[in-house]
Amino acid sequence: MKFGGSVLNSPLKIRTLVNIVKSFKNKSNNNELVCVISAISGVTDKIFMLSDSLARNDKRAIKGFIDEMSLLHLDLINEVIDDPTMQQEAKDRVLYIMREFQAILEGLVLIAEITPRSLDHILSFGERLMAPIVCYSLRSQSLNSNYFTGKEIGIVTDSNFGEASPLMDTTKFRVNAKLFPILQKNTIPVVTGYIAADQHDHVTTLGRSGSDYTATIIAYCINADVVYLWSDVDGLMTADPLIVKGAQVLPEISYSEAAEMVLFGAKYIHPRALEPVMDSNIPIKIRNAMDLNHAGTTITPNLKISNNIVKSIIAIRNTALIDVSGGGMVGAPGTAASIFETLAKNKVNIMMISQGPSESSISMILRQDDLGKAITSLELKLLGRIIKHLNVLENVSIVTVVGSGMRGIKGIAGRIFASIAKNDVNVIMIAQGSSELSLAFVVNDADCEKAVRSLHQEFGLDQKYIPNSSFL
Ligand code: ASP
Ligand code: MG
Repeated sequence: MKFGGSVLNSPLKIRTLVNIVKSFKNKSNNNELVCVISAISGVTDKIFMLSDSLARNDKRAIKGFIDEMSLLHLDLINEVIDDPTMQQEAKDRVLYIMREFQAILEGLVLIAEITPRSLDHILSFGERLMAPIVCYSLRSQSLNSNYFTGKEIGIVTDSNFGEASPLMDTTKFRVNAKLFPILQKNTIPVVTGYIAADQHDHVTTLGRSGSDYTATIIAYCINADVVYLWSDVDGLMTADPLIVKGAQVLPEISYSEAAEMVLFGAKYIHPRALEPVMDSNIPIKIRNAMDLNHAGTTITPNLKISNNIVKSIIAIRNTALIDVSGGGMVGAPGTAASIFETLAKNKVNIMMISQGPSESSISMILRQDDLGKAITSLELKLLGRIIKHLNVLENVSIVTVVGSGMRGIKGIAGRIFASIAKNDVNVIMIAQGSSELSLAFVVNDADCEKAVRSLHQEFGLDQKYIPNSSFL
């Protein structure tokens, strides 16, 4: 069970977390579970902000930051751990970690240099401060518990600081050796999400929202029955409820559908988090800790046949289109490669690509924020050589229609574009991969909501499903 930052930011929520764990243990004596926790929501962002101050040699920023962090964590302890001895012990543990944190910050600000490695080291404290609090909260409700960092539990990664990947075989071996004796003693391990260590024992992080990934890595290692991702949203939805009033929570979807959705929906999941469980067919349950009656979304390998061809309509906003063209591009191998290489070197991420068979132009979609960088780098490197023209269209949106049921079914594209046209929306660009899992097209942002609403209706996605109210 992974508990996200939004479930850790108030005493009430931590008590809820403890109750969830307790009911799960009470349900059957044989129930074993591992808790993975993230930092309190907002803490990782604050550490990132502080790292800028450190790099600017701003010594004064540290005091305010440490005071704020101490208050935040100690307050929680006061509110959720009733037993005075345990309360004191938990505080001692947190203060101990806090002193180490402060010493490192004071060292870093003196040299005013933040490397990816030192950044990961300080980022790890968000989760590290939280682990003893959850552990002692469980203990104060008579549950056996111990806490561990990702490194202590055996997660070993490469040294790609900030976005590290686990070395799965080593990790599986170590996690098993570490976790089984703990579980056998009927102890609930509380493991820090997001952080691990490389082979040299340097702290690494798995990338933003990495606690989901920690949970699925551990699940894969111990061959868990199921992964619960507890947060404050009901699940994955048929559309953004801010755009479509009748948007519904999807009871069940496949891994590959989820992979198309989790980057842009209300529930952001680490993009690589699905990998470890996909290989081992372990289902993921996305649940709202604050509404246990809601069955949430299950991401499952054994999808029951559903009559929904289309599952979800996703809108990706704040994007821009660049179209590069020129007669010299036709039939010239390596054109696309040099365009994408130039953009990659400048750290511009391309979200969508389209090229017609005449090869005379390539259109791409990127984040609006990256547009300036993208234009400058293409102009410096390529304009006047292979590329003759560079056209830019700002304020566009991608609309993606997701559903594995579309595969091999005729007429879906026809229905999509007919419905769009009926609503007087112009389609600027289209892309569909041959997996037919999703079809994406681009419209002016002003038309985006209209397009999403019309497709949501066209494919009947606002039909209510009856949530099953069983807990766990
Ligand atoms: N605390 C980390 C972050 O904010 C990891 C997580 O929340 O999953 O990115
Ligand atoms: Mg998070």
